[in-house]
Amino acid sequence: MGGTTRGVEDHFHNGYHNLANITAWLSWQVFQNPSLAELVELGTTYQEKVIQGIRIGRDAGRGKREVVIVGGAHGREWITTSTCLYLISHLLSASPSTPGSASHLDKFSFLIIPVLNPDGYEHTWGRGSDRFWRKNLQPTGSHDWLGRECKGLDVSRNFPVHFSASSSLTGSGCDSTYPGQEALSSSEARALASYLSRSGEEGEEVLSFIDLHSYGQLILYPWLSCASASSDGYASDNATAATTTTAPPIPDEEDMAELTLGAARAAKLVHNKVYRAGRGCEVMYSQEGSAVDFAYTARRGSAQGGDGGAGIKWSFEVELRDEGSWGFLLPPGQVRDTGEEMAALLDYLLAFVAGKERL
Ligand SMILES: [Zn+2]
Repeated sequence: MGGTTRGVEDHFHNGYHNLANITAWLSWQVFQNPSLAELVELGTTYQEKVIQGIRIGRDAGRGKREVVIVGGAHGREWITTSTCLYLISHLLSASPSTPGSASHLDKFSFLIIPVLNPDGYEHTWGRGSDRFWRKNLQPTGSHDWLGRECKGLDVSRNFPVHFSASSSLTGSGCDSTYPGQEALSSSEARALASYLSRSGEEGEEVLSFIDLHSYGQLILYPWLSCASASSDGYASDNATAATTTTAPPIPDEEDMAELTLGAARAAKLVHNKVYRAGRGCEVMYSQEGSAVDFAYTARRGSAQGGDGGAGIKWSFEVELRDEGSWGFLLPPGQVRDTGEEMAALLDYLLAFVAGKERL
């Protein structure tokens, strides 16, 4: 794929950045590329921060199928945010000398959300911060054994497909993976779910959804949950039977397996890092209420979302670097390399999808 030969120049990608600098950088990208990029507000968090995305496409994406890429659902996973920022540069650097990116904009438009959970991300920065904070910061009503209030819902377990309602035990709100008492009770999941399941203009629907996390070097397709469910994603009961280690195959199994294997090979060619590919439930541990299972699940009932999913076939979760040596503390020196790997992975994925969809 030659990902390193057409890397992007911006020194911004040599390290991590706090929320204020990211917001400023996004505005600068739009200012410099007024015909290709615009800012989008998807919602507002508990702390009244804006959940911001950047749309990249020609003619404001008119007539193009959309690819949505999300980072920063979990505060401590800084590499997912910096990789989104790298992908923005990758897509905006499209020129005759960077044919990969240029042809992407012929076929697709992109919405990239670098920090889905800005409250949680900000909480991992600066004085008095908690570098390993994962959740958002909304109240849970739970208290720990010292009587202190526990904050935060796990945004990535708050989606309505394969949602596993927390037990009513007091204190469960103190868990780092607390999913909330009901699906979509976090403003972040609500904002993303409503964007993914909106009815786009004819030919402009969301075609692919990629949720970035860290760490583990994995490329995963549905189901991420091992809960027993019918093949369209609807659990027969409230997805409480998450004791199995296999999920039913999805109808698109062959395409998804082929794509993720090829994407892993493309990523490895860049810096020789191995990404493992496969069905989420089997390659990783079971994840309930994930954005990816929601995105993939067929729509049901009215086009307004209802209790269905978003019906996006090409939905994936990518766990970025590393395999555990540094974990969430991945050194800034690996930000650019990880961006280059993900850009190659994305180039492969888009070429595959364009071929299958005859774009
Ligand atoms: Zn995560």
